[in-house]
Amino acid sequence: MDNGSNPVGGARLRDPRYDILFEPVKIGPVTARNRFYQVPHCNGGGYRDPSAAAEMRRIKSEGGWGVIFTEQVEIHHTSEITPFIELRIWDEDDMPGLAKMADAIHSNGALAGIELAYSGANGPNLYTREVPLAPSHTPILTFTSDPVQARAMDKEDIRNLRHWHKLAYRRAKRAGYDILCLYGAHGFGVIQHFLSPRTNQRTDEYGGSLENRSRLLKELISDARDEVGDTCAIAVRLSLDELAGEQGFSNAQLRDMVAMHAELPDLWDFAHGTWEACSGTSRFKPEGAQEDLIRGLKQLTPRPVVGVGRFTSADMMVRQVRQGLMDFIGAARPSIADPFLPKKIDEGRIEDIRECIGCNICVTGDMTMSLSRCTQNSSFMEEWRKGWHPETIRPKQSDAKVLVVGAGPAGLSAAHKVGLRGYEVALAEATAELGGRVTRESRLPGLSAWARVRDYRHGQIAKMTNVNVYRDSALTADDVLGFGFENIAIATGARWRRDGIARYNLLPIPLAGSMPVFTPDDLMAGSLPTGHVVVYDDDHYYMGSVLAELLVQKGCKVTFVTPATKVAEWSFNTLEQGTIQARLLETGVDVRVTRGLSSVEADGVTVACTYTGRTERIGCDAVVMVTARLPEDGLFLALKAREAEWADNGIASVKLIGDANAPAAIAWATYAGHRYAEELEAPPIGDALPFRREVARLKD
Ligand code: ADP
Ligand code: SF4
Repeated sequence: MDNGSNPVGGARLRDPRYDILFEPVKIGPVTARNRFYQVPHCNGGGYRDPSAAAEMRRIKSEGGWGVIFTEQVEIHHTSEITPFIELRIWDEDDMPGLAKMADAIHSNGALAGIELAYSGANGPNLYTREVPLAPSHTPILTFTSDPVQARAMDKEDIRNLRHWHKLAYRRAKRAGYDILCLYGAHGFGVIQHFLSPRTNQRTDEYGGSLENRSRLLKELISDARDEVGDTCAIAVRLSLDELAGEQGFSNAQLRDMVAMHAELPDLWDFAHGTWEACSGTSRFKPEGAQEDLIRGLKQLTPRPVVGVGRFTSADMMVRQVRQGLMDFIGAARPSIADPFLPKKIDEGRIEDIRECIGCNICVTGDMTMSLSRCTQNSSFMEEWRKGWHPETIRPKQSDAKVLVVGAGPAGLSAAHKVGLRGYEVALAEATAELGGRVTRESRLPGLSAWARVRDYRHGQIAKMTNVNVYRDSALTADDVLGFGFENIAIATGARWRRDGIARYNLLPIPLAGSMPVFTPDDLMAGSLPTGHVVVYDDDHYYMGSVLAELLVQKGCKVTFVTPATKVAEWSFNTLEQGTIQARLLETGVDVRVTRGLSSVEADGVTVACTYTGRTERIGCDAVVMVTARLPEDGLFLALKAREAEWADNGIASVKLIGDANAPAAIAWATYAGHRYAEELEAPPIGDALPFRREVARLKD
């Protein structure tokens, strides 16, 4: 079967029970073609990579979304959130990029939404060096505790703020946007800072009572209606609960406010709470986690309501609408993992949906100011840079056959995408199971959704007659040389180290032979320690804390030791760090931070303070090393050693991909598989960059 030009469309019909999701819905002066509403989401590209961000949104328009939003757009230079990279609408220089994105969104019939943000107490203004403005004198409330405070706005500042918003409204309309949404959620926007009694301690008509605290919102929306309300819908995005108890803008206060201003905006968009809560990972938050907080809000207003909840199930979406919880299915991550989610439901191809696994690797792109990537959709933010598409790929170049060795995320992705190009593919897996590390890790506490990485790809491959899967097939170099495949992808994965080597110890540490030392692979294979276990985490992502949870569940006493200042330090970037540390503390794990492992003795371990070097002993019965990994590249090296035999055996290329090349997070492996397929038999590019980029235009 040649799937090389596999069309995105299909001949099948939509299941009538999903018809409700495809009803047009009016939002003020505009009408959305259906109920699929891509809420604003960052992408790490923003103003630095405007064409990459625009093309990413265009693909979603092609995928059938009714409404597609920008990320947050800073409306004025007196409030910006450097180092984070979003969009700006400061002056005419920003207009071409914004217009390009609006055009891209419109290209396939979606409404273009722009999220207008004035960050106030959340913007340190590190780039513009302006004094930040907020309702009250407040330290800047952001991730980095910058030594900056916001000045309390006086009446003139508030008049200016309204004026700056008016400029932004006019520009947004001129750039082509249909829906203007004021950002007042996640603690990030000045509207929320005014609404919350925590951040608004004013004694004038903008502080105190709820009516006063919502005055700015009322004025900003009225101004927007006067300026652009004839053609643009005016929406507002608010948190369902600030999650700061009674001191904050609680869910009860939000309900009072919506009732008070029921007809004020053309649409209410309700985010969850803090960003961490709203974008909770699947480890801690199920699909639709905000249901109790949103229930009943729609009944307080005649205006349409948007809600989010990492919705990937069409049945769940229908229930949200039928039960009157929301009019629009808001989605950021599900739209990243599968930009064609609406189209697939529309075409009766539910089984083709690439479900978000809730890992928040996409968020890390924003947090690290790089381009976002997605574990499930490796074309995300490569649509313009590399011309990749989430559903289609150019047809095969020749009749050469491809052997993929190893069916982890890298091998499965390679086999899927190479198969989509129409090549004959054999996927050989040493074990009886597909999925590699994803299958193993998905059995750990909280990680079951990760199996979707395997299930989506396996599901797609199973439909392709040109891809054959061979289980229980541990291949040797002799096997590979003898098979007669022209192109070989080696995706044989990696194993965890036992010798203590990672970041703190770059050389092996002394290990007493009598102390049982386990690796994550041992635990995942079912070999478990007992008694008092030291989990040593010099990996700093999820694995150490997940294994600590597993061991507590199995009745072990756990001491968690890490050289970092926090548990699972890198999980700050996935917005999970606080929740992970709380989970360990609540489950009785003894947490020892800033401690590097010096040696392992027969009856315990010696650790050293990372600041002072002072050592201490921790007695234990076993140690779990969550340190670095080593690539399983033996097969590749054996083949490489016999490169002289390749031509005689018809082999044109042997490539090492995924963890076998260099271990990383799962998203890196799916990307490597996709990249292998894209670059297979592609013309050489020499010294050219393998992606497009935009560089700043110079001015005098
Ligand atoms: P990645 O994340 O790079 O995809 P994984 O470790 O998840 O890596 O998957 C690697 C897969 O390769 C595992 O399922 C493993 O069983 C398989 N594998 C390893 N060596 C061989 C081999 N010689 N032949 C076939 N399969 C192999
Ligand atoms: Fe979902 Fe993870 Fe992709 Fe983000 S990176 S959209 S959380 S699968």
